Amino acid sequence: MKKPKFQAPTGMYDILAEDQKYFQRVYNVCENIANFYGFKKIETPILEETELFSKGIGLATDIVGKQMFTLRTKGGDYLTLRPELTAPVVRAYIEQGMGSLPQPVKLWYFGPCFRYEKPQLGRFRQFWQFGFEVFGEESPVIDAQIIRIFYNILRELKLTPHYFSTRKFTQASSTKSGGGLIVDINSIGDSQCRPYYKKLLVSYFRSRETVLCPDCRRRLRENPLRILDCKEEKCQPIKAQAPQMLDHLCEECHKHFREVLEFLDEIELPYHLNPYLVRGLDYYTKTVFEIFEDTEEGRKQGALVGGGRYDALVKLLGGKDTPAGGGAAGLERIIAVMKGKGIKFPEPAPAQVFLAQLGDLAKRKSLRLMEDFRKQKILVSESFGRDSLKAQLARANKIGIKYTLILGQKEALEGTIIIKDMASGRQETVKLEKVVKEMERKLKIKK
Ligand code: AMP
Repeated sequence: MKKPKFQAPTGMYDILAEDQKYFQRVYNVCENIANFYGFKKIETPILEETELFSKGIGLATDIVGKQMFTLRTKGGDYLTLRPELTAPVVRAYIEQGMGSLPQPVKLWYFGPCFRYEKPQLGRFRQFWQFGFEVFGEESPVIDAQIIRIFYNILRELKLTPHYFSTRKFTQASSTKSGGGLIVDINSIGDSQCRPYYKKLLVSYFRSRETVLCPDCRRRLRENPLRILDCKEEKCQPIKAQAPQMLDHLCEECHKHFREVLEFLDEIELPYHLNPYLVRGLDYYTKTVFEIFEDTEEGRKQGALVGGGRYDALVKLLGGKDTPAGGGAAGLERIIAVMKGKGIKFPEPAPAQVFLAQLGDLAKRKSLRLMEDFRKQKILVSESFGRDSLKAQLARANKIGIKYTLILGQKEALEGTIIIKDMASGRQETVKLEKVVKEMERKLKIKK
């Protein structure tokens, strides 16, 4: 088939009616849960100053290094289509003076993001995220609550949980693959303990540099922590022997992480300690987590949710020193899982009445009549484009309508209308201005 002249840009797509119901369902679940946990919705501009991301997410990250859609305005400013929403929400928190509100400030969002990635399963150039961010609270209870919120949303969307038996702080549990949601969790320390750990890691990998994949050799110079989440076969045995952050956390980070896990135990939320989890954004401190579907497809498409603490970010972006944490989920990936599970939606309510018309005057009167029905919340279907009565009745039959109203030329002139009971074929003529009331009676609609 010949390709149309214009197509959606690579990695971007139209969201048609059949997918809108998934988006709407996710939105409704997010909104309900946000209200329950006291989060207020925020919308930020699609474009932000480029420096917000280069500074916030980090110059050495893939997002900033390779994936930003950046443009120069006529005025000479550099703006970037947001690749994520945490940095914009932090910018808004600072700019709108939310630091002087009672803390914690809890915000949630739902909107499109843009990354120049190689399009593949679960990876698009325009994709949708929803996220939850909490500012001004250092207690680990917030870390646990954020994870709980995402977990609850996924459960509410009928994604199923996955249970583990091994839960040891210093040791990763091995998992059997059997489907279900997995919460991976790790701590990547803070400015106290991470620099030393980074040094250890660099010296470990440097002595093995020749056997690392080309990407990891680059990471060794630019962002050594990222070597830990390399998926290349040849790097796995080297990674397996690498020093682990959990063994080198400072006292404060160690205590914080232990408490996060205790809170998760308390709320019986199953998790998997993953010492290789580092996340692709520089702003994280202490807790990081990801949630994904433990199926081959789920692993291939990547995490459904990612997040963690970012205690240094508000200050880094020009605000006061403010502890914070949050996470973001990808709509497309979640919807792919929902589709895979064949999640059902209730059918929209069917029309109760069909309005058939013949001739111009009848058509005009029908348009008015539709509005009268709409005001009384009676669902009406029509086929104004068709002129033959036979075709209109056939259409009414096809959609299983109980009553068809027929407004022919004669009726339009006389100010009447015919009500046809589709099952019995019985017909009666009533005054046009009475028909809405009469249908309310027939359909037994109580006001
Ligand atoms: P991140 O901001 O990278 O932590 O991503 C958070 C979530 O957004 C991920 O877990 C994915 O579900 C989703 N996501 C990130 N990048 C993409 C992408 N290119 N296409 C689709 N979803 C994405």
